[in-house]
Amino acid sequence: MPYCKECANTRLFGSSKVPPVAPTANGCVSAMLGHFREDGQIESISSVGADKKTLIAARVSPEEYFDLCLSCYSQEIVWTQQRE
Ligand SMILES: [Zn+2]
Repeated sequence: MPYCKECANTRLFGSSKVPPVAPTANGCVSAMLGHFREDGQIESISSVGADKKTLIAARVSPEEYFDLCLSCYSQEIVWTQQRE
């Protein structure tokens, strides 16, 4: 599961690899938002302009995409393997 070293956020992340279509629109810093559950699994991915291919790839390999904390905008993200 993703974990922000700065603010301990584990729920909402973006991707610096998928930049927003319009950088200033809505203050979004990523064209893709990943919502994670408490157990670290992806609950849903919201597209703010990202194409379908990118969304599918991010769901398959989330650790390769989600590297941006959307709570404090830090990129100090660590991935831990916590599975039941
Ligand atoms: Zn953070």
